[in-house]
Amino acid sequence: MTTNSAFRTKEINDRCGGSPRSKHLEGLAMDIRTMEMTNDEKVEFVRLCASYGALAFGFYNRFIHFDIHSKRNWGSIPRRYVPVLKQFKLSPYIRG
Ligand SMILES: [Zn+2]
Repeated sequence: MTTNSAFRTKEINDRCGGSPRSKHLEGLAMDIRTMEMTNDEKVEFVRLCASYGALAFGFYNRFIHFDIHSKRNWGSIPRRYVPVLKQFKLSPYIRG
């Protein structure tokens, strides 16, 4: 498993186009590269993250963002993740 991004300084966050309110700036977020993972492995990864307290997920083509800041959602959520998110009462079912 490869971590694309974890804690970011403001300079690094600006350089990679991160949101000014990115949770990476607080060290509360990670982006994990998913290009080599099967869909089943990605779903299991999200289930494990949620079971250890991840509260928000962002699904991108090449990576999954997760963080422990608060329950939020943004962007589109691939259907395969919905049962796991529902199981842990995470977005889009409960808005923080
Ligand atoms: Zn991220």
